[in-house]
Amino acid sequence: MKLAKSLQNIQPSYIREILAAASAPGVISLAGGLPANEKFPLALMTNSLMNLPNRAELFQYGNTAGYAPLLTHLKERYQLPHSHEGIVCTGSQQGLDLIARAFLNPNDIIVMEAPSYLGAIQVFGLTQANIKSVSQRSDGPDLDELENCFSTNDVTLFYAVPDFHNPTGVCWSLTVRQKVAALCNKYKVAFIEDVPYRELRFKGEALPLVSSFCPDNSLVLRSYSKIATPGIRLGLVTGRADWINTLNIVKQASDLHSSIPMQAVLLDLLEHDGFEQHLEELRQLYSVRYKALFQNVSLHLESYCHANEVDGGMFIWLSLPECDVDALAKSALEHGVAVVPSSVFYHDRTSVTPALRLNFTNASVEELAIAVERLAVVIKQYCD
Ligand code: PMP
Repeated sequence: MKLAKSLQNIQPSYIREILAAASAPGVISLAGGLPANEKFPLALMTNSLMNLPNRAELFQYGNTAGYAPLLTHLKERYQLPHSHEGIVCTGSQQGLDLIARAFLNPNDIIVMEAPSYLGAIQVFGLTQANIKSVSQRSDGPDLDELENCFSTNDVTLFYAVPDFHNPTGVCWSLTVRQKVAALCNKYKVAFIEDVPYRELRFKGEALPLVSSFCPDNSLVLRSYSKIATPGIRLGLVTGRADWINTLNIVKQASDLHSSIPMQAVLLDLLEHDGFEQHLEELRQLYSVRYKALFQNVSLHLESYCHANEVDGGMFIWLSLPECDVDALAKSALEHGVAVVPSSVFYHDRTSVTPALRLNFTNASVEELAIAVERLAVVIKQYCD
């Protein structure tokens, strides 16, 4: 069969592909966006999992919007206004896909920061949207570029990750949050706020969601992959009821509903007395690992690259002098360390700035130190 037109320019995810090579014996992987396996809250989930055979009703077909007791809990947890609804998705990745399919036609103009989350580039690419990029600064998107883009194009939506961005780790300042919401309101651009890392802040105070400044002109995507486990594949989209109802129709056609037994297990976990403690321990561990990675990078690579400091999330972004980042990442793999080159995070490959994304949540402090030593050998070769 001939490939659909929408697929002809889509590349398979480099990260999904590199994950296989990165798990070869002896390779230390800083490539995936993987949470720490040893911190999966399985002990907190055991009773709930063991009790599933006594809850046959959970194994029947369920509601498309989600398991009702979980939805009630989540609406309360995130204090949704009465005019807003939620829909549980098969990971927030499915939420993105539903939004793109519900609200975009081929050639519709959408805006993303550059660099941006690879999974979002893929989803918007599949719907054949016309993707415009705005540069990212240390406190969020370049506001002049953003306003220029909004005022000169008929933009449908702006997709962004304001809390501990993937891949750069950037967290938007309060002022930028307010100004972006104001611009979205002024130019009637829907704001799609993707916040899978929001609860992984290990320094400083949480900032309000951008959507809190434009609640009826935005959708929020949340994920339970980082605070529970990725394998349960659960996420949530919230926003005004008419938009969520539209997503319901697309989800009916897509997979009827997400796994009800897993939604029941997630609800038990979120309501467990030990859940807040689990989150606290997770943040502490990630803080320790982040500091180890950052210190090793400063020690071995300071004269070659610049690493941004982060207050949470799972990644640091290592900016490099002009070089072939793809060749460098390949060579790093041969030297036993897997990293992701910046090129994969740009929709428009002509605007790539040389950098590497390093994950700090899935390797021990000792492994992080060895990984940076190996990386330093390669970077010195490429950048000297
Ligand atoms: N958005 C961003 C920014 C992500 O980094 C990821 C996962 N790495 C997702 C969405 C998808 O998460 P989920 O596992 O909930 O589908």
